[in-house]
Amino acid sequence: MKYEVTDLTKVRRRPERAIYDRDLVHSILDEALVAHIGFVDDAGVPRVIPTAFSRIGEDVVIHGSTRNLLMTTLAKGGRACITVTLIDSLVAGRSGFGCSMDYRSVVIYSSAEVVPDSEKPDCLERIVQDIFPGHRIRDHRENELKATLVLRFPIREVSAKVRDAGCLDVEDDYASDRWAGRFPVSLEIGPAENCPRLGPEVVIPEIAAGLPSRKK
Ligand SMILES: Cc1cc2nc3c(=O)[nH]c(=O)nc-3n(C[C@H](O)[C@H](O)[C@H](O)COP(=O)(O)OP(=O)(O)OC[C@H]3O[C@@H](n4cnc5c(N)ncnc54)[C@H](O)[C@@H]3O)c2cc1C
Repeated sequence: MKYEVTDLTKVRRRPERAIYDRDLVHSILDEALVAHIGFVDDAGVPRVIPTAFSRIGEDVVIHGSTRNLLMTTLAKGGRACITVTLIDSLVAGRSGFGCSMDYRSVVIYSSAEVVPDSEKPDCLERIVQDIFPGHRIRDHRENELKATLVLRFPIREVSAKVRDAGCLDVEDDYASDRWAGRFPVSLEIGPAENCPRLGPEVVIPEIAAGLPSRKK
């Protein structure tokens, strides 16, 4: 299935790198841990704030304090631009023009819906499980839930862009004596360092040995 291309999501430069395929968009969102969310605050100032997020079905879901500017501004329904970027390699070309990066990125335009209190615990659990699959947390406390806003952004107006080209130099540069190549980049999550305040009765769970790769 493909997302509809709109005036806003039409990639102009290098349109051959644009992808509107739902599975690809989902795979980029599912691998990433951080989104940068752009919005205009009440004073008209544009802001772009990084934050953790999860994809739940066709929504991007974020959570934060009820005093958080990003959350309180967007809870009023204004437009947001959400970007997610994965770097796959650093490309050292034979010229400055040829130096680049291979990447997979997503841009989403959307407006938030406030997740009602009744759905908050489930949403928060899904965010925890997305980042720490298999991790068991205690029940949320009433005051914790009260202090937390959860927003979901329906994914409708969206584009992905993928560069997987490695070195792309100007044709006559290939014959030069300059070296060129690409350096693969990946996110590495090591085994857990135990919290120094673990009680003596705590059994170390399997998850402590390592988290599964986010790359599917
Ligand atoms: C890690 C990384 C490094 C980059 N470095 C450079 C650089 O140094 N110089 C440079 O010119 N460009 C760079 N780009 C590409 C840049 O993101 C834009 O694609 C580029 O500015 C061209 O935009 P445009 O004028 O075609 O589209 P715009 O008119 O800026 O955008 C039109 C629409 O296209 C879509 N779109 C544009 N870019 C992306 C994207 N990356 N991912 C998903 N959707 C997108 C959005 O829906 C946007 O609203 C980089 C991208 C990434 C991810």
